[in-house]
Amino acid sequence: MATKQFNSFEMAQKQFDQVADLLGLDQASRDLLRVPLREYQFSIPVRMDDGKVRVFRGFRVQHNDARGPSKGGIRFHPLETIDTVRALAMWMTWKCAVVDIPLGGGKGGVVCDPHNLSQREQEQLCRGWVRQLAKNVGPLSDVPAPDVMTTPQHMLWMLDEFEVIHGAKQPGFITGKPVGMGGSLGRTEATGYGLVFALREALKELGVQPASTTASVQGFGNVAQYAIRLYTQIGGTVTCVSCWDQTDQTSYAFRKKTGIDFEQLLGITDHFGGIDKKKAKDLGYDVLPGDAWIEEEVDILIPSALENQVRGDNIGKVSPKVKVVAEGANGPTTPEADAELRQRGIFVIPDFLANAGGVTCSYFEQVQSNMNYYWEKDEVLGKLDVKMTSAFAAVSELSRRQKLFMRDAAYVIAISRVAKACRDRGWV
Ligand code: NAD
Repeated sequence: MATKQFNSFEMAQKQFDQVADLLGLDQASRDLLRVPLREYQFSIPVRMDDGKVRVFRGFRVQHNDARGPSKGGIRFHPLETIDTVRALAMWMTWKCAVVDIPLGGGKGGVVCDPHNLSQREQEQLCRGWVRQLAKNVGPLSDVPAPDVMTTPQHMLWMLDEFEVIHGAKQPGFITGKPVGMGGSLGRTEATGYGLVFALREALKELGVQPASTTASVQGFGNVAQYAIRLYTQIGGTVTCVSCWDQTDQTSYAFRKKTGIDFEQLLGITDHFGGIDKKKAKDLGYDVLPGDAWIEEEVDILIPSALENQVRGDNIGKVSPKVKVVAEGANGPTTPEADAELRQRGIFVIPDFLANAGGVTCSYFEQVQSNMNYYWEKDEVLGKLDVKMTSAFAAVSELSRRQKLFMRDAAYVIAISRVAKACRDRGWV
């Protein structure tokens, strides 16, 4: 029997409906917020290197812009669908609202696999995407950014096309640009550091000194690396990390009970975040099956690789010692596992709060680009700390006051803020 395919937009709507019930949200606000305000679906003809024209399908969804211009990445992915883009746009609305930045939620995509496209073809695709949307996006309405398989170079081609069409320099149109061409210092560190700013506050609340804690991390890419760097700097000890091995097409966990040496591991890691097994063994690491990270007897788990990693079938392996789960990845925990985390009283820093440092720094990039004045890295990271700390404080205060699970408290804050903006504007 054919099973119904997972649909992320249906899941996003279900999550919204639950919180709308909790908030007693009126019908008009529900009708407005459970679907996007605007959607664009279009064709992008590209003359390929062999002289033939190929037509790609492109999307942009603006879920809600009551709090400010829509913000969200553009994915290049062969399996991209309008429903995935709708879900991601809705999640961006909540993410921007929970950290209280004056932006709405958007997302875009193109059905393609950039691995099979030349640089010239990718450039044409980027320029074609902008040509189709030039009147519907912009620094005052909708600000795209990179996402899965899109890069700073793609952003620069898109910016260039936008500026040619509008006949003016408008670097605030897009974020994730290369540093020196309108990009912000600190963006590389932002998501991992932002997670640790929130984690530091959580430990403070639990009355635990970071220096007395241990952590196990899934992933060793951008988010995980910077999270580990800062967590180690505040005194924590990481005993295990896991990553994907391109050669064996499987994942491995790398464990050192006394604590990993971050810089040493970084020295044997490729730029996809894959660690060299043989060299790790020589350096005294236990090389274990990939899912061993979740069984570690630590205080903190930091899933920072993929979605759907903490599930009903492996939640039972989480050690009773674990006090905090800080979700670096998007959607790492399934609803089944989430129920168990609630029941065990584990303190969860939910994904759209824990990894919001990335979009917060993108907002800083947009502000700097609009002013055409760029800040030093310390200034960017200092402002990021302030934003993450106050967002965490608001969520955790509500969670304590109303005895809500942290994930629910974060949703309640985000959805209330957006619903209020819609009401205040007189939309509903
Ligand atoms: P990345 O590509 O830099 O790193 C991913 C890491 O995960 C790599 O070390 C890879 O080896 C590892 N990995 C992949 N499959 C694995 C598996 N099955 N088991 C164990 N490890 C595995 O990606 P990233 O930018 O660090 O993003 C990680 C997650 O964080 C994603 O869910 C992403 O959507 C989310 N996120 C990233 C940002 C950001 O700014 N980079 C912002 C918000 C959310």
